[in-house]
Amino acid sequence: RVYAVSITALTAGDDKGALLFFRDETAARRLEHMRVDFVANASHELRTPLASVMGFIETLQGPARNDAVARERFLGIMREQAQRMSRLIDDLLSLSRIEMRAHVQPATPVDVLGLVKHIIDTLTPLAGDRGVALELVAPSTPVIVPGDRDELLRVFENLIENAVKYGQSGKRVVITVSTPAEGAAANDNEISISVRDFGPGIGPEHVPRLTERFYRVDVAASRDKGGTGLGLAIVKHIVNHHRGRLQIESELGQGALFRVVLPLFGDQKAAGRMRG
Ligand code: ADP
Repeated sequence: RVYAVSITALTAGDDKGALLFFRDETAARRLEHMRVDFVANASHELRTPLASVMGFIETLQGPARNDAVARERFLGIMREQAQRMSRLIDDLLSLSRIEMRAHVQPATPVDVLGLVKHIIDTLTPLAGDRGVALELVAPSTPVIVPGDRDELLRVFENLIENAVKYGQSGKRVVITVSTPAEGAAANDNEISISVRDFGPGIGPEHVPRLTERFYRVDVAASRDKGGTGLGLAIVKHIVNHHRGRLQIESELGQGALFRVVLPLFGDQKAAGRMRG
């Protein structure tokens, strides 16, 4: 632990004494470290594609100046790297926007089931390319939660896209909307949305760290698939912003399950917490 110590001298008549103050600065130091690490990581993540673009510009201005075939290929790589930087900047901005809004509780009624169906429709072509079938298990009526539609869209887009990206070709991804919530420590006034894949799964040492910014089990695999390493950090922030919980269950070889538990609309306890 880290303490800041200060001393104040006291005199009362002939009596002399001193007061020692100890202030626990451990949490503040830890936050400061996290902030510095975050800036260093973000700069590094941007510098890598930028260095690659600069390298190709030099090659195109120099040795490959008159090589039309090389030019086409290099321009393609440069575009990919620029897209990677752009995705990273979008994710960094999303994170800081959510952090700024964290004290304002989102409370517009959102039909999460409709939202999930919409995401499944938009991700079906990507899943098809990877040989993955998206399956929905859900009630027949809308499921309404108090929330921010764009933020919730981001959550389920990220989770389903991850399941498609990291799941296994030829296997299913099952999305289950359940009311009341299923799973660990669920209450009657909550709903859960889970995304389950049957891919290689995640080792137990990684599971608790997945929502850290820039944490990736396999950095090269994530980059290959266009990942920024910020998706699950954003998911966790948004779920917290909605007073919900993110639960991750996975074992190596057993696929992975990401479950979001949210308070239902009209739930008095949640409404009370929101006003509070
Ligand atoms: P990325 O942009 O790298 O996908 P995320 O924050 O979305 O970043 O995920 C962090 C890491 O968690 C990924 O790089 C991957 O290693 C792991 N991961 C996420 N979802 C899954 C999944 N469904 N199966 C296996 N690993 C996963």
